[in-house]
Amino acid sequence: MEELLEQLLEECRSYTQNGHLASYIPELAKADPNDFGVYILNSDGKHACAGDFGKCFTIQSIIKPILLLLALMDNGVDAVRSRVGVEATGKPFDAINVTDQSLLSDHINPMVNMGAIALCNLVKGNDYNEKFNRLLSLTRTLACNPKIDINESVYHSEKQTGNKNRALAYMLKSYGMITDEVEDVLDLYFKACSISVNSKDLAYIGFALSNRGKIADGYKRIFSYDYAHYVNAILMTCGMYDGSGDFAINVGVPAKSGVGGGIMAIVPTRMGIGIYSPGLDDKGNSVAGIKLLERLSNALFLSIF
Ligand code: GLN
Repeated sequence: MEELLEQLLEECRSYTQNGHLASYIPELAKADPNDFGVYILNSDGKHACAGDFGKCFTIQSIIKPILLLLALMDNGVDAVRSRVGVEATGKPFDAINVTDQSLLSDHINPMVNMGAIALCNLVKGNDYNEKFNRLLSLTRTLACNPKIDINESVYHSEKQTGNKNRALAYMLKSYGMITDEVEDVLDLYFKACSISVNSKDLAYIGFALSNRGKIADGYKRIFSYDYAHYVNAILMTCGMYDGSGDFAINVGVPAKSGVGGGIMAIVPTRMGIGIYSPGLDDKGNSVAGIKLLERLSNALFLSIF
């Protein structure tokens, strides 16, 4: 397996130059576009890796499935569904646009920013410090890595420049979809996106989702089978933003990308995969990361379709 990973990494290396680094969060533009790494953790506990799999980057949107898990664990499905829906577009079949409709939970998807910001309000804790620590602690547990922590520079960079996210949060507030102070909710969102991980961590988190709630460390159950099912289904339809359809055709497994350059892929019952390459396409997905997953999926028959 390791040989296959080395070979596919070399085959896809040229694609690392085709993307662009995220620059709307200034700190992310400092990444090295040549970094490229992959880590796979199999259901039998065996692993394989290649390239810069130990290189750290910020988790960004890959925190969204973890936020969703925590919101589900804290509140149950019904309470989460009353604030954040599950539909890819949230629009009726004949919609012209939704901007002139009132904002309903069914319009909000947990894998895009507005939904994730709404989820931040649902995490339990006495204050926003405690809420963040609970999210960080779940991330560490799923990744079986107690050392995972926040990247302070990215957090400050994001907080300073995140005005579009502010606009989304105030919109949610105006519709009563956020009940706490907007800046507190946003602070949790910015911190959550700034958690620093590597490809190995993503493979371990993906493993827990592929293993229906049991982590690699001692096969301990952390969340229910039902929640794994819920999160994986949403990742399948919306995990790669408006590239999810192409990804479903060409790769065919639940996955989540982040503008830090990471991709976490879940092959139900088989493996968790973590990839890092910071050059992004115009949808915010790692260009070389997707190419590598396409080839991996072909070589190992990973597609669930
Ligand atoms: N922190 C980023 C943002 O809010 C996350 C987006 C992403 O990874 N796609 O813009």
